[in-house]
Amino acid sequence: MQDLPLELHILKSFHGHLGPYVVLGYKMGKMARERFPEKIYANVYTGNKPPLSCLVDGIQLSSSCTLGKDNITVHKGGFAMANFMDEAGNKMVIELKKEIRDKVDREMSKVGEEERSLELFRMEDEDLFDVNLTMVNRPSQTSTGRR
Ligand SMILES: [Zn+2]
Repeated sequence: MQDLPLELHILKSFHGHLGPYVVLGYKMGKMARERFPEKIYANVYTGNKPPLSCLVDGIQLSSSCTLGKDNITVHKGGFAMANFMDEAGNKMVIELKKEIRDKVDREMSKVGEEERSLELFRMEDEDLFDVNLTMVNRPSQTSTGRR
């Protein structure tokens, strides 16, 4: 097996194995955290059935949205999708592209799992996810505001 990057070692030890969905969730949470470095909330629409719900653990590790802090909510749905919000109400919706999800589900099995997960880890975010960002229009951010 190839050497894993440190963050994937940590992810594996947290989650128990390194499957595609925990890695994809990790990447989603990381994108959200980069956008919202302050207080952040997550809603995840996977439901609670593995392997899809493994996404939730990846998101918890990288986004700092955790069950213990009650700033993540897992909803029913069966979607590889989550939205993230900051305190102002700015919102980032991230969904796994359909063709990637089809591929992941088609190849889902324990054999070669880490290799496939590592491959997904190394892919560009924009090749994996559709992202929709809605920023709240606050007065302090408008260009016509007070100097
Ligand atoms: Zn898993």
